Amino acid sequence: MCYTIPMNARLLPLVTLPNPLLRQKSKLVDGAFLRTDEFKQLLLDMEKTMDDSNGVGLAAVQIGRLIRLTIIKTQNGLLPLINPKIIFKSPLGEVGQEGCLSIPGVWGQVKRSRFIFVRAIDLHGRPTYFSAKGFFARVIQHEVDHMNGILFIDRTKQIDEGKELLDKKFVQ
Ligand code: ZN
Repeated sequence: MCYTIPMNARLLPLVTLPNPLLRQKSKLVDGAFLRTDEFKQLLLDMEKTMDDSNGVGLAAVQIGRLIRLTIIKTQNGLLPLINPKIIFKSPLGEVGQEGCLSIPGVWGQVKRSRFIFVRAIDLHGRPTYFSAKGFFARVIQHEVDHMNGILFIDRTKQIDEGKELLDKKFVQ
């Protein structure tokens, strides 16, 4: 007989600035990990944690796991992205406001490519390719930056809100 243990989503503590973990590079996810209950639990926990803070994306590093995994909220539901790599970025950029669950209270303008082409692996470990534009492309670029230890405040030319919070965090 085969049965599964019901899993409950748990709220995880968010890693926030100035935690140095946010500056580290995440490692590729191993295909075998995708078949584990630990991975399924991790996705559930990340979703609950993101929803609890009204986020539109969450990278694993933000809950303390240095692996190249992110979840993104889309119109069609939750999109987990595993080992995403942006293989094309349009030269045409677009400036828009960003915030980050790891830098609460801070908002700034960031220029991102309007259109990107992404390679990732799906939940079964198979390669998948897709294109994204506009806000969706912006969120992906923000999350992939997290995997490389880059934060939106590194790219912003204008902080709209929370500059005093940011200054405080940098002197700590
Ligand atoms: Zn972020």
